[in-house]
Amino acid sequence: TEGRFAGQTVVVTGAGSGIGRATASRVAREGGRVIALDISADRLTAFAAEHDGLDITTVTADVTKDEDIARVLEAAGGPIDSLANVAGIMDDMTPLHEVSDEVWERVFAVNVVGLMKLSRAVLPRMLEAGRGSIVNIASEAGLRGSAAGVAYTASKHAVVGITRSSSFMYGPSGIRVNAVAPGGVITNIEARFDSALGQDRVMGALAVAPPPVTADQLAASICFLLSDDGVNLNGAILPSDGGWSAI
Ligand code: NAD
Repeated sequence: TEGRFAGQTVVVTGAGSGIGRATASRVAREGGRVIALDISADRLTAFAAEHDGLDITTVTADVTKDEDIARVLEAAGGPIDSLANVAGIMDDMTPLHEVSDEVWERVFAVNVVGLMKLSRAVLPRMLEAGRGSIVNIASEAGLRGSAAGVAYTASKHAVVGITRSSSFMYGPSGIRVNAVAPGGVITNIEARFDSALGQDRVMGALAVAPPPVTADQLAASICFLLSDDGVNLNGAILPSDGGWSAI
């Protein structure tokens, strides 16, 4: 096969919907062997059905669970060339004095702990191979305080921190770790406004943001960093937001 991902095994999380799905689709169409994981079996079945003939292995897995991560590694078999950490959830737009333990813990479990756990499991294979590329999905909320509630904003700043630390630690080992910070994207992500203050503040800030784009537009940015086209990028936090971050 030809294509940027020919001969490579690429793990994509959140592959059942939105940005993860578009990324997994593009990697497969560009010749990669995709290990597509998602917490939703139904979404993965639909994804695989629409990509008949491409090299896609689906794994129903929750990135917050160690036993599920073990099954992902098993499905991959040998070396893993690249990892796109896309799975994530929104918060309820609550500011700090209103955030519940439940929202804080779940948002951090998926967006931060899950990303850390899967990356930690995959890295030994990349270190062994002396090469690898990881792309973490941050958010505009990883760059500024006005894009979501406190839990999501803090979780995406943590994603930026994990990205920077890892790019520094593993650069000399041939492993690149970058992040993409999307602006608004039309997906199935659930965004609730459970706070009048949060709604007022965030909606006001959103008024100046560029209109939401398609998941395919994000997949283009993610695949750029994930592939060898990103050869000279390490530790970059790439806004893919139509210019929102320049405002
Ligand atoms: P989405 O809800 O359409 O897709 C996310 C997928 O992740 C879903 O299929 C879901 O089942 C899966 N998932 C959720 N929890 C999981 C878990 N514990 N283990 C495995 N899979 C799990 O959402 P999306 O908008 O495509 O979001 C993808 C990423 O992009 C997220 O990290 C999100 O924070 C980020 N993001 C989205 C936007 C946006 O406007 N949509 C903006 C900035 C950042």
